[in-house]
Amino acid sequence: MTTVPDDEASVTQCILEARIRLKNALQTCKRNTDAAQLLAVSKTKPASLLRVAWNSGQRAFGENYLQEALDKQQALSDLTDIEWHFIGPIQSNKTRAIAEHFTWVHTVERDKIARRLSEQRPAASDPLNVCLQVNVSGEASKAGIAPEELMALADIVMALPNLNLRGLMTIPAPCGPDASEETKRAPFRQLHEMLNQLQARYPQACIDTLSMGMSADLEAAIDEGATLVRLGTAIFGARDYSATS
Ligand SMILES: *Cc1c(COP(=O)(O)O)cnc(C)c1O
Repeated sequence: MTTVPDDEASVTQCILEARIRLKNALQTCKRNTDAAQLLAVSKTKPASLLRVAWNSGQRAFGENYLQEALDKQQALSDLTDIEWHFIGPIQSNKTRAIAEHFTWVHTVERDKIARRLSEQRPAASDPLNVCLQVNVSGEASKAGIAPEELMALADIVMALPNLNLRGLMTIPAPCGPDASEETKRAPFRQLHEMLNQLQARYPQACIDTLSMGMSADLEAAIDEGATLVRLGTAIFGARDYSATS
């Protein structure tokens, strides 16, 4: 039975279950149990629940909406080793606050945004870790660069002094309940191949991150090489968007 995370006690339980699920997925495909980490995706959830997750040992949190994230960072400013990842679409008027208040950005898809993030990263901070978001499924409506644009954007990001290119991120097109295992996996496999190409082009760089897999497809993503899975619902429960904004 899996727990439905809707309150503080269940978030604690769900964090434990998510860790076991990740470990099982890694063991099933004979990867090291520390080969991938959990990003707790906390959009629309109150700071109190993030604190519960932190108390259970979770350190990396993913947020999609800037103002909401800044409010939670304020509320949780006593948690010094918490690590904030920005995983939402980036408007250019938001780059300064993102560069100042996050350790990671998973959704870089335009050179202009990359340049602003680098320029606006505070000098006292370490370089901002970034993943390039790739639209592997090729949907017109979706965010991310096309696969053939990868190297051009990677070359630009590699040359920016205050960005540290760490890898690639994707959100595959939703596939229906009847989708075959192969349909589910194809975008993850393609992203992994692109990461291999990126590593071959920049063998000296620390390009080590495949940000892929969410609550519904963690196992497929892990089997295809994910190093960071982004879990929202499985940790914090269903999101109620009407309650926020
Ligand atoms: C919301 C979100 C997630 C979490 O999705 P779940 O299905 O709730 O696990 C992961 N990645 C991104 C980019 C998201 O916006």
